[in-house]
Order: sequence, then structure tokens, then C-alpha cells
Amino acid sequence: MSAAATVLPSMDPAAAEELAREAAAWCALHGLVVGDRADPRSGTVPGVGLVHAPFSLLPAHLPEPIWRQACELAPIFNDLVDRVSLDGNFLQESLSKTKQVDDFTSRLLEIHRKMMEINKEENIRLGLFRSDYMLDSETSSLLQIELNTISASFPGLGCLVSELHRTLISQYGYLSSLEHKRVPENAASSQFAEALARAWAEFNVDSAVVMMIVQPEERNMYDQYWLTKHMQESYGVTTIRKTLSQVEAVGQVLPDGTLLVDGKKVAVVYYRAGYAPNDYPSEAEWRARLLIEQSSAVKCPSISYHLVGTKKIQQELAKPNVLERFVEDKEEIVKLRKCFAGLWSLDDEEIVKTAIEKPELFVLKPQREGGGNNIYGLELRETLIRLQKEGGDALAAYILMQRIFPKASPAYLVRGGICHEGLVISELGIYGAYLRNKDKVVINDQCGYLMRTKVSSSDEGGVAAGFAVLDSLYLT
Ligand code: ADP
Ligand code: MG
Ligand code: MG
Repeated sequence: MSAAATVLPSMDPAAAEELAREAAAWCALHGLVVGDRADPRSGTVPGVGLVHAPFSLLPAHLPEPIWRQACELAPIFNDLVDRVSLDGNFLQESLSKTKQVDDFTSRLLEIHRKMMEINKEENIRLGLFRSDYMLDSETSSLLQIELNTISASFPGLGCLVSELHRTLISQYGYLSSLEHKRVPENAASSQFAEALARAWAEFNVDSAVVMMIVQPEERNMYDQYWLTKHMQESYGVTTIRKTLSQVEAVGQVLPDGTLLVDGKKVAVVYYRAGYAPNDYPSEAEWRARLLIEQSSAVKCPSISYHLVGTKKIQQELAKPNVLERFVEDKEEIVKLRKCFAGLWSLDDEEIVKTAIEKPELFVLKPQREGGGNNIYGLELRETLIRLQKEGGDALAAYILMQRIFPKASPAYLVRGGICHEGLVISELGIYGAYLRNKDKVVINDQCGYLMRTKVSSSDEGGVAAGFAVLDSLYLT
């Protein structure tokens, strides 16, 4: 039993309250902050209406072998995304039914098809991913929730939480039974910045900039500004921030493929928006996405990397004999398969029947990102029955996934300066960076981690969506 296991439950509410105040002050002093919903300008004006990011007072436990397993998977998944992205027909075919019933996926596929038609090649390919896992309590196995290939959030703030926890453990007498070194170092922020800067260097135009695609209102802007700061300070690379609609208004692609925005050449386009239908309120945003895709700028992600991250592709890759098409190394295939949970397409009538009978054992997922979209329990049953009645391809918009049940443990979560005690479960995210230029793999690394913790009674998990808090981990 780890030391943490004995300290956590015995920390009384008064001590937790005091520690939470210290921790919240540390957040303010170190930029572990987000925009405060209570201030209407906090999502548009930097430096206005800040509040500490929601965090867990102490790190979540994780067995060290599980941690190593998750880290080891990162470069394998990085490589897999690249391989799959090169098979345009596989992406189009796997998503062909989804396309009939899901307008958003259909628009993405349309851009992808256009790029296939002109034989668009991306020589410099940059992926900044986050593979999310839960530890299944029944089998003690690490199972993948999903692989994010676009807008993987919290590389900037996540590593500050690790630093916060290390600091609290080493400075706060109450926690003297813990060892700060058991919170793994976390350099997600500087490693993501490095990958962006190296993609910029491969592009090899000194005057060019990195363009971050952002939402018009973004309360998580400080997570993004951390990357901007590292790129500027360590590599002298300048970042501009643009919404898709601004790109449509002021962007153009020159005959040689150069993307010009505000008269600046763009080397790398880094998407922190563009993953959800809300990011495309009009045709202007779709025109911008297409314009960027047609250009020679490095896209993080390209349309094909983006599509590889869809839930449908995750489910297709889990089918028998599909991984074998993309991965040669037999051991790698075994490692990947070991972390796949049960995933099913809804044209499998048997599994739909089982899910209607036992909805608590499944999660129904549409092709969406950003949290808050999945369907559970009774609503899952009703949705399946309704979609079955509707007939046609309506079911093809979703996939079914085995529900994973991590072990719940007591913890203190701090949000808006208030410390709540509760039973919580955690989701481990491992960041990965992949950069290649033609045949040369420049980077294929694991880049730090993000733990997200939520009360065990909540189905969803997004931090920005208000379900979870940021956390780090304590190796046991
Ligand atoms: P998104 O792309 O919207 O983040 P996810 O697949 O990550 O979609 O699902 C959102 C949240 O739902 C996860 O963070 C997790 O908390 C919960 N979740 C997703 N899949 C499962 C599952 N198979 N078992 C248990 N919880 C899940
Ligand atoms: Mg996601
Ligand atoms: Mg997720």
C-alpha cells in the first residue's frame, strides 16, 4: 500500500481547506489559470477575469507498471496514426455510412476527398496527440478511451498541476509521508512547443509564423499561451492567433501553395478549434478549413490525421486483422490490442440487442469531440430503440463501446476556490508528438501526461465542459 493511500482519506476537511488555499494561491502565481465564466470578457480579453484552473488537491494513484505501459504505447500510436492517414480509401470507406447520417463528418470527408482528387501530399506531417485511458477495476487493465488527434488540450496547464503537486508534497509538512519524486516530471508544454518549432524549422522559411486556430471565445487561452511563450522564448518562433472566420477574411493561398495571412507566411497551422460543428457556424469557416488544407503549410492536424482520430476509425481499427494492415511489428500489435476495449459498429444486431438489455455496460458515442456528447444508461437504451425504429443508416452515426469502470477513491477537488470532498475516478492522458519530413522521422515521442479526475457519479469527463478537474499522478 502506498503512503498516499494512507494520507488521503485521513486528511481532515480543515487541513484540506487550508492546503487548498495555499494551492490556489500557487496557481495564481504560476499561471495555472483559466478565464472565469463570471466575467463576460474573460474569453476574449487576455489578462481579464482569471480564476485558478479546477484541480485535485493531491495526485491520483497509478501503479508504476501501468504508467510505463501507457508511456510505451505513445510512439506506437503516433506511428499508427501516420500509417492510417496515408490510406485515404480506408478512411473514406470506413466512414462512408457515417457520412450519410452525420453532416459534420460528411463535410470533413468532403475536404479529404478533394485532397485525394488532387493527390495532395503532405511531406511535413505534424501530430500532437493525446491518448486517453482508464484503468478497468475488474481486470486491472489499462484500456484506451479514445485517441485525440486534433486540439488535444491541457499540455500547457497539465504540467503545471504536476509541479503544483510536487511542490505541495515537498513543502507541506502534513504530506511528509509522500515523496515528490513519485509524481513523474511532466514537460508536455515545452515538448509540444518544441515539436511545433521543429515543424516550423523543417518548413524552413525564416520569416514565417505559426498560426494557432482559436475559437472566438476561449476561456482556456492560457493553456494555449503557454505553448506560444515556449515557442517564442526557446526557439524565437512567433505565433499568431486567428479564428477560422478571420482566416477566411484575410487569408490567401499563392500559386506556389504559400499560405498568407495578414501578409505573413504561415509555416504551421495548429488547430485549437475546428473539431466540433459549433466551430463552423457558417460556410466561411468551412472555406477557411479548405483553404488551409490546400496550402503548403504544415497542418496540425491535416484533414487525414483529424479523421484518423474519429471514434468510427477507433472502432474499425479494433476489428480483427485491421491493425495488421498498418503495423508490421507483431509485438506492437499485441501491445495495441491489449489496450483496446470492446468496440462495436451498430450494424452488429447482436450487440445492439445486448446493449438494449444491459445499457449500463455500454457507452454510445457519436462522432464528436470535446466532451458531453456520449449517451449512457436508460437514455442509451431509448436511443437505440428509437434509431432502430427509424431504420435506414441512422445507427451509423454512432459506435458502441464497452463501459469501463475505474476504481473510485476519496479525494478533494478544488473549483472556484471551493474544496469539495468526493469519491472520484481518473482518466490518464498521455501526450505524443510525431513529426516527419518525407522519409525522415524527426520526432516520435511521448510528451508528458494529463490526469483528469471527476466525481465517480458523473458519466462525462471534460474539464472545460465542467465535469472534471486537472490532476497529476502518484506512482505506487
Ligand atoms: P470526447 O472526444 O468528447 O472527449 P470521449 O470518448 O473521451 O469523447 O468521452 C468523453 C468522456 O466520457 C471520457 O472522458 C470519459 O470520462 C467518458 N467515457 C468515454 N468512454 C468511456 C467508456 N468506455 N467507459 C467509461 N467512461 C467513458
Ligand atoms: Mg476526444
Ligand atoms: Mg475524451
